[in-house]
Amino acid sequence: MSALAHNHVIHAAPTPRAGVLAIDAYVPGRSEAPGVAKVFKLSSNETSLGPSPHARAAYLEAAPYLADYPDGSARVLREAIGAVHGIDPERIICGAGSDELLALAAKAYLGPGDECVFTQYGFLVYRIATLAAGATPVVAAERGYTADVDAILACVTPRTRVIFLANPNNPTGTYIPYSEVLRLHRALPGNVLLVLDGAYSEYLRLPDYDPGLDLSLEVPNVLMTRTFSKIHGLAALRLGWAVGPAHVIDALNRVRGPFNVSGPAIAAGAAAVADLAHVEHSVAHNDHWLPKITEKVRALGLEVTPSVANFVLIHFEDAARRAAADAFLVSRGLILRQVGAYGLPNALRMTVGSEEANVLTIQALSDFLSGAKA
Ligand SMILES: *Cc1c(COP(=O)(O)O)cnc(C)c1O
Repeated sequence: MSALAHNHVIHAAPTPRAGVLAIDAYVPGRSEAPGVAKVFKLSSNETSLGPSPHARAAYLEAAPYLADYPDGSARVLREAIGAVHGIDPERIICGAGSDELLALAAKAYLGPGDECVFTQYGFLVYRIATLAAGATPVVAAERGYTADVDAILACVTPRTRVIFLANPNNPTGTYIPYSEVLRLHRALPGNVLLVLDGAYSEYLRLPDYDPGLDLSLEVPNVLMTRTFSKIHGLAALRLGWAVGPAHVIDALNRVRGPFNVSGPAIAAGAAAVADLAHVEHSVAHNDHWLPKITEKVRALGLEVTPSVANFVLIHFEDAARRAAADAFLVSRGLILRQVGAYGLPNALRMTVGSEEANVLTIQALSDFLSGAKA
């Protein structure tokens, strides 16, 4: 036996630390419908309108500089975000998607023995980030597929260090009013970091909604995260940002990779955030289609959770019926999101798509329910 092989026998294989093997790896929304000529991907809440043309141009203009390391602080992007939102760029951190920022928050504030609270149908990344940090996930029940502040507060113990709250939430599309966010924050011990995930906040124009930007600037324990993957149409570039107290931004900067955001992403993001007309156009598209899709799918006899984001959760009578509907839709190139991993085996999530995709999906659901064969 060689020395190396001998060594292998004596010592056990490398073992990940506690929590890692408890993670169910994130399974992204599908993107393929085998054998179908034209595919509509309505499974990952991407925008059907694409990015701002200025963002695309800025991305292409970055091509000659691929050999150079980017600015590790993403200063140009932080300044652009700061100018649009009225924030001191020092209070902003950028990440490779807001997923990275959620993971950095967990890495900096959670460890073994700590608890992290999120809600029953909360975004799956919260559980993954918590377990990856070696901490304990604590799940607060929801009411009517909506976060319940009293249930969240009932989960808070002396071990709680972080609360993740998507508002509105994915995959449910529901939200809680800002008054409820404030009530939650006021009841928390000062050493609990409240992370408000505003991945869809640009879509909301409701008087009782607020993503918590001012709160994150005023109090010492609120971090707000945002993404370029949804309304800004830059999911492929992996780009997000967060704003919060200086001491929290400092902690996240210490644990992030030194060049966590790429040069082309910095350039494209700075152009995207400044293109307010493109954002307005996207909001108008969603404002037109979200109620229409909800109404038409309900008229077919299916339950639709009331959504304020760019997607809807559609419920079928059971998991078998959902699976049959899913297969029927895929046979027509319409890819919706399975949400069994969220404990919602009877439901499919449909992203608001182009007019063509929306019309085809409603028609396909109608055909499926009236017994058509795929
Ligand atoms: C899509 C999404 C994100 C972020 O995605 P990134 O592409 O990593 O920025 C974060 N939170 C929620 C709730 C989402 O749905």
